[in-house]
Amino acid sequence: MGQIIGHKTLKTSRLLKISGSIAITSLLLLLMPAAKLPKKTINEVKTIVLDAGHGGSDPGCNGANEIWEKEVTLDVVLKVGKLITEQLPDVKVLYTRTTDKALKLSDRPNYANKQDADLFISVHCNANNNSSAKGSETYFMGLHKEEGNLNVAKRENSAITFETDYQNNDLYGGFDPNSPESHIIFSLVQNAYLNQSLRLSSYVEEETSKLTSIRSRGVKQAGFLVLWKTSMPSILIETGFLTNHDDRNYLKTEEGQWNVAKGVLNAVVRYKKHIEKK
Ligand SMILES: [Zn+2]
Repeated sequence: MGQIIGHKTLKTSRLLKISGSIAITSLLLLLMPAAKLPKKTINEVKTIVLDAGHGGSDPGCNGANEIWEKEVTLDVVLKVGKLITEQLPDVKVLYTRTTDKALKLSDRPNYANKQDADLFISVHCNANNNSSAKGSETYFMGLHKEEGNLNVAKRENSAITFETDYQNNDLYGGFDPNSPESHIIFSLVQNAYLNQSLRLSSYVEEETSKLTSIRSRGVKQAGFLVLWKTSMPSILIETGFLTNHDDRNYLKTEEGQWNVAKGVLNAVVRYKKHIEKK
């Protein structure tokens, strides 16, 4: 499939220069659903890939010059991993990064696919020009229903601009972070594990809001590049807004991070139980 897609997307790139967004719209629509065909039936949770957003030269969003997103995401992910390893010894926990290193957005799903993971959980922090915006949101791949959800995906997807070769079509299928059409087309990608991803997202929002002082803004959908090519149920957690005083001060603390991590653990435990009882 890779070669065919690569060949087609190369043509997409040439056409884009000639015909602009109409060409990219129609061609990408033809290509995108093919990238997400279901490959397996998942009825147990044996391997989980935890993905700490950003890292290295890509710091993610900034919290009042007090903390960077890449620091919070790594701290939280390592805690989630530790709790899962302790509480669910039959589950193998793998990480896309355990240190402050740069990773391509495409490396993250590729790693989960290679490891044949049963779950992919990407952890991030939100940001907004309005510092009163606060709360957690958990996303799965799909068309955004509100402009605000699209804006979250746009900010997260702009991480690819740290990659010098992001315009290589084999990596992102001609995705242009500056094109509104690109974001919308991406969100129309067929989600092969929609129900499972929705279930885990709901559990994360329910369980984290029970244990933390961060209020839940709910489960949402948008087109995230990092979730695009995963071949397992996949979610992206926006743990809170680093641009908000309350959320930031909570996410900066060990206690806050442990509580978020415990919420994610409880969500994984519930999800695993549900999947495996069938
Ligand atoms: Zn992020």
